[in-house]
Amino acid sequence: MDDFDFRHWSHRAAEWGADYRETLRDRPVRAQTAPGEIGARIADTPPEAAHDMADIFADFERLIPDGMTHWQHPRFFAYFPSNAAPAAVVAEQLAGAMAAQCMLWQTSPAATELEVKMVDWLRQAVGLPDEFKGAFQDTASTATLCAILTMRERALDWQGNREGLFGRAPLRIYASDQTHSSIDKALWVAGLGQDNLVKVPTDAALAMDVAALKQAIRDDRAAGMTPAGVVACVGGTSVGAMDNVRAVCAVAAEEGLYTHVDAAWAGSAMICPEFRHFWDGVELADSIVLNPHKWLGAPLECSAHFVRSPETLVRTLAIQPEYLKTRGADGIVNFSEWSVTLGRRFRALKVWFLLRAYGLEGLRRRIRNHVRWTEDLAARLAAEPGFEIVTAPVLSLFSFRLAPDGVPEEALDDLNLRLASAINDAGTIYLTQTVHNGRVAIRFVAGQFDAAEEDVAGAFEAIRGVAELLST
Ligand SMILES: *Cc1c(COP(=O)(O)O)cnc(C)c1O
Repeated sequence: MDDFDFRHWSHRAAEWGADYRETLRDRPVRAQTAPGEIGARIADTPPEAAHDMADIFADFERLIPDGMTHWQHPRFFAYFPSNAAPAAVVAEQLAGAMAAQCMLWQTSPAATELEVKMVDWLRQAVGLPDEFKGAFQDTASTATLCAILTMRERALDWQGNREGLFGRAPLRIYASDQTHSSIDKALWVAGLGQDNLVKVPTDAALAMDVAALKQAIRDDRAAGMTPAGVVACVGGTSVGAMDNVRAVCAVAAEEGLYTHVDAAWAGSAMICPEFRHFWDGVELADSIVLNPHKWLGAPLECSAHFVRSPETLVRTLAIQPEYLKTRGADGIVNFSEWSVTLGRRFRALKVWFLLRAYGLEGLRRRIRNHVRWTEDLAARLAAEPGFEIVTAPVLSLFSFRLAPDGVPEEALDDLNLRLASAINDAGTIYLTQTVHNGRVAIRFVAGQFDAAEEDVAGAFEAIRGVAELLST
């Protein structure tokens, strides 16, 4: 197929995408496929001779969409959203056509300069002071890894990359028991070890107990270990736990520790001033991550990583072999020096399109709607006999369970696991479960970019209907 008609097939793909978006509500939200079913229908060996593009495209349509869970479905209420606003999808098509490698200024001047601007637009949008600079990392997991590596290098007087960790006193990182598994993994990858992540207990409001934090740091020092940093949680993945960032940063400052704030999901809501109390004190942090690829509408991958002092990040991550040096261009930014990977996609373009096509007002309106609709749904479920709210709404996340009269407590976990899978099998909506205080609860998160009030309100009937079927 040497005469590949790129123009024709690009048009076909764009048409397909538009049709897909328009018919999303007719599809079951979660893939209704069994493990192995799709794989069994794909050839086991690569083709020697070229296939006709019409056949490839037809196979795509036949095999792939029905085997997908539809993250852009307006009734997707599972995990956290992974939004791809239509205008940002168009930007991705353009970035894909250019397929630039944005590792250095020289390899992508417009991408680099747009990235500097877009990180700054987002900084202003969420109300961070102007000393914060940043970069788009692929994911929050990577931004957190960068922060943990910075904690490591700073605590080792910048010798860790050179000398390794052998024979040193253990470095200790502190985070609450509500933080995301990406923090654990960052310690694994940074060579610090799971056992050196100190999970500080939380109080009744699920915020890190800062007295316990302080005590843990002092105990570790007394035991000859080296405290290196603290990770604060703004919007925990399970039920939306919020640390008191100001109090956590105050302890870290007294102890000379670097601080990282994980606001991967909840950070997008900070474009609304009325929600900023959730991260009060954030201007005291050294590093902050929030994911425009979750709630804001920038397609994966797009994680905004803000740092107060880029020098510490660059000192940790910049490596400059001769072939990467850019001569005669002082004062430029080479974003590969701000991240773990060398190669980087052009991520800023979708943020530019997103912020301009909807405006901060349009994005705020969506987030405010999601929060309000979620509160309405939680209130309706709370009033419904047999249902209990397990954790009250935090922004657009709450958890609930079915607990009908007469069903013993020890049978409720199983009942709720069955309820969640029956709801997802029915396909109208998609929810996931968690364990809170040792008990199964079902999470509900609104946040899909094009969700309407009826989509969120309709979850009530979908949940109640399946619950009734289960109990008959
Ligand atoms: C989703 C999430 C992460 C991980 O984000 P990725 O971008 O998928 O790596 C980390 N922390 C919190 C609180 C999250 O909600």
